[in-house]
Amino acid sequence: ATLGVLRGHEIQVSATGPESQAALAAIQALADQAFGDAEPPEAVSAPAAPTALSPDILAHPASLQGAPASPGIATGPAALYQVTLPAIPAHVIADPAAEWASFQECLEKTRAQIMADLTLLQSHNAAKAGDILEAHRLYLEDAALLDPVRDAIFNQKMNAAAAWQQAVERLAQSYLALPDAYQRTRAKDVEDVGQQVLARWLGEPDTAPPLSRPAILIAPDLSPAEIARLDPSLVLGIATESGGSSSHAVILARSMGIPAITGLGPGLRQVQDGMTVLMDGASGEFWIEPSQALLVEVTEQSVREKDARAAAQAQSHLPAITRDQRQVRVMANIGSVKDVALALSSGAEGVGVFRTEFLFLQRQAPPSEEEQYQAYRAVAEALGGRPVIIRTLDAGGDKPLPYLNLEKEANPYLGWRAIRLCLAQPEMFKSQLRAILRVAVEFPVKVMFPMVALFSEWQAARRLLQEASLELRERGQAVPAAVETGIMVEIPSAALTAEQFAPEVDFFSIGTNDLTQYTLAAERGNPRLASLYDPFHPAVLELIQRVVQAAHAQGKWASVCGEMAGDPRATSLLVGLGVDELSMNAPSIPQVKQIIRGLDYASARVQANKEHSTAH
Ligand code: PEP
Ligand code: MG
Repeated sequence: ATLGVLRGHEIQVSATGPESQAALAAIQALADQAFGDAEPPEAVSAPAAPTALSPDILAHPASLQGAPASPGIATGPAALYQVTLPAIPAHVIADPAAEWASFQECLEKTRAQIMADLTLLQSHNAAKAGDILEAHRLYLEDAALLDPVRDAIFNQKMNAAAAWQQAVERLAQSYLALPDAYQRTRAKDVEDVGQQVLARWLGEPDTAPPLSRPAILIAPDLSPAEIARLDPSLVLGIATESGGSSSHAVILARSMGIPAITGLGPGLRQVQDGMTVLMDGASGEFWIEPSQALLVEVTEQSVREKDARAAAQAQSHLPAITRDQRQVRVMANIGSVKDVALALSSGAEGVGVFRTEFLFLQRQAPPSEEEQYQAYRAVAEALGGRPVIIRTLDAGGDKPLPYLNLEKEANPYLGWRAIRLCLAQPEMFKSQLRAILRVAVEFPVKVMFPMVALFSEWQAARRLLQEASLELRERGQAVPAAVETGIMVEIPSAALTAEQFAPEVDFFSIGTNDLTQYTLAAERGNPRLASLYDPFHPAVLELIQRVVQAAHAQGKWASVCGEMAGDPRATSLLVGLGVDELSMNAPSIPQVKQIIRGLDYASARVQANKEHSTAH
């Protein structure tokens, strides 16, 4: 970890010595399993944008702003908590062997305590977060910590507390020197375990914030172990002076459902034990001794937001039909079968984009046709007869495929990727197409090609689809009579020539994520270009409208499947532009459906035409 290696980095490992081969094989095996991380961690969904509070309330003198860490509104008396450790002794020791042996015992007891904390987490239904404590336990066996301690005890006659403290500080320093902010916060984990061992060695009892009545816990900082030992029925919220939103303590609080704010700074020291405080974990706002009016406003607002979410969720299984009877299909974007359950419980009417990349990335050879067939079939089956659009491989460029020896490109987003790469690797591409066709025999499956820039690419891709179908027939396998086939419109050239595609394709799906980046020449995800990267820019809206009109002129339909489709601020505009289907991340579905139900299509059209012709 202290090398600063991150997911996706390429590392070269060499070893010498008698067991070097076995060591290398063990490391290779770990790497093959992505070091136990099957999938990239799920993105924490952004908290709902808080509705603006009245200005006099924001100007409240005793309000603090911290980092939103775990959502939820909480109010109650403050309970201050701070651990002070006794000073580390400086004496030298006479019997290193005895010191080392009893220090080993101390480590053993700490290990047992961590196991007990893990059990506690299970009883809080936060077992998933147990990996954090498990990692703490592993530090107790880590040679990077233990070797220097042993060395200092035996060679310098240093007492165990001083030796341990020195080793912990050095390891924490090496984390703090890393360039990656997330990895730097791991220094806190080392320090937390370090403190836990020291407390035990110096005879301090294991700390658990003492709470006798429901309260908001105020602390300079908290360790995961301290959070694990909290009684969730007594802790209304957690507010800390330091820490960011990715610390392990915060992840634990979130998994226990306790509202939390971190990084409130020294201003938090104004809070005295028993003072009433109010906090909004979703926005990071914190108030000391709030007025009655503020209490009422914040709690009412949170109730309103909760009610609106609950109402939208309750109706999420109904279709989204405007007041003047125009139905818009609302679908989910998914990456694997694991996403289907949430899609369906959120009210998805099917899948608008199944991104198939995950099957192809991070492996040494492309997946076989059979493996793909099983993966696509699993999704279609889980959807219980609802339609699914399977998007063919959109990799290469910034998503490398190790088995294709792709050259490093100066501009991966403009590089050899997606359909460009698939057309140049027809055998690999056809195995994907055969797998999709086999599933389409039994289920309502559609095919979609990504990153189409030229009409000739569409023609070539469709030819390979026909070849794939012929190959299946030659093998004596069933093929569907026809499979609906469309293209993603994410390159301006395709949008501007949509009329040429429209007679041939069955549908268009507009990928506004890429369409925006190519239209404005603003790389998606580059924070410095955030204000330039604007899917609401009239140029992007013009392209969307062109595609919809070209589709409708030929009796075809058009969908939007970029992030914009799930943005509640875009719903009226996209419906007004005539989009037939919106495909989005599952959590956005209930709200977007609710918005559509409140729309009048005729007025949304008028409004959309006005907006899209308004220059920025
Ligand atoms: C898009 O570009 O809008 C899109 C949906 O595809 P992806 O985000 O996978 O590039
Ligand atoms: Mg895209």
